[in-house]
Amino acid sequence: MILLARTDPDAPKHKGISYFLLDMKSPGISVRPLVNMAGSHDFNEVFFDNVRVPKENLVGEENRGWYIGTTTLDFERSGIATGVTHALAVQEFVEYAREQGNGATGALARDPMLRYELADRAIEAQVEQMLNYQVIGVQARGMVPSNEASIAKLYSTELDQRIAATGLKLLGLYGQLLRDSPHTIMGGRLPSMYLYATTSTIGGGTSEVQRNIIAQRGLGLPRG
Ligand SMILES: Cc1cc2nc3c(=O)[nH]c(=O)nc-3n(C[C@H](O)[C@H](O)[C@H](O)COP(=O)(O)OP(=O)(O)OC[C@H]3O[C@@H](n4cnc5c(N)ncnc54)[C@H](O)[C@@H]3O)c2cc1C
Repeated sequence: MILLARTDPDAPKHKGISYFLLDMKSPGISVRPLVNMAGSHDFNEVFFDNVRVPKENLVGEENRGWYIGTTTLDFERSGIATGVTHALAVQEFVEYAREQGNGATGALARDPMLRYELADRAIEAQVEQMLNYQVIGVQARGMVPSNEASIAKLYSTELDQRIAATGLKLLGLYGQLLRDSPHTIMGGRLPSMYLYATTSTIGGGTSEVQRNIIAQRGLGLPRG
């Protein structure tokens, strides 16, 4: 586990923090699972009770951990795999809508605006891929993606929510069926996709934080 700990309590807020690698088997660590509202367990609460971290686990210079942490976050935000997941989801939605055709019971007849919504999602999934190529280009040159990663993360996570909402609209009431129902469409993935998407714009830095980074590091605007 990566641990950022305050090592100089008197230093101003971004200074005085150090970056450690922590052995999760260290005495005093307890891990309590957190099950999210989509019903999956991806995260934990970690409690530290007088845990000792050896000095050799320090990464970089003591009290300069914040700066290493921001670089780690730049790479976390470069979540380029989501672009592929989104493109595949949109493709699956389009195939479903096409199979349904214009029949009276079909999704497109139920909501004619869905045609435009699917076209928008298809365009957006391509835009997302272009933004990801920009991040890949920076990384391929051996540089750290900074505001490029924030632009891609912001766009991708807000798109995540729009894609899940379009999917639910397309499937109608079937979209609410969970995986164990015999009547599910698309394996009953839509309810958890929709619930999980609400967290996308928070985890890894909220959309407001990404906009601040883009404004400061990308556009050179003064701090807000
Ligand atoms: C799915 C998921 C995965 C996560 N994974 C991890 C993980 O692996 N490791 C980890 O340490 N944490 C993780 N988190 C926690 C996540 O990093 C925090 O929830 C997130 O940074 C927001 O912090 P907060 O909840 O304290 O909200 P706050 O910082 O209190 O923010 C509350 C609101 O104020 C806004 N806000 C805050 N600061 C500013 C600012 N400077 N300018 C403008 N608006 C601002 C925010 O955008 C938000 O709307 C995860 C969260 C989620 C949902």
